[in-house]
Amino acid sequence: MTRAAVVCLLLLLAVAASSRVAHAAAPTPCQPQPLLKEWLRQQLVAWQPVLIREPGYHAPASFTVCALHARRPYTDLRARRIYVGPLRNSNDAVSVVHEYLHLALAGHPHGRDEAYVEALARRLVRNGGD
Ligand SMILES: [Zn+2]
Repeated sequence: MTRAAVVCLLLLLAVAASSRVAHAAAPTPCQPQPLLKEWLRQQLVAWQPVLIREPGYHAPASFTVCALHARRPYTDLRARRIYVGPLRNSNDAVSVVHEYLHLALAGHPHGRDEAYVEALARRLVRNGGD
């Protein structure tokens, strides 16, 4: 690939990335997943003693679990929605909890720390947070 072609490719990727961000800012239709939300609610009751010790943890008064329509799970902080796929195994469970933690830690720097959020989600799913 020539140097010009590489620059051109990088520009195209930058445009694609910025349009994805713009798209994410617009409200995306939500197909609610009540069973997933109920599963999460039950886990959160059990994990409460751990979660309340987390710096910055603030359980959202309300939020919606929506069916995933993108390639990867994500959180819409403004609309208080998490977009997640079906729950088939413990990795899926970690994904659901990870996105929820982005909401519950939204007012804290930890909420944007992917490594922190992922480690806490794994700890909660694997052994209840202990
Ligand atoms: Zn994340």
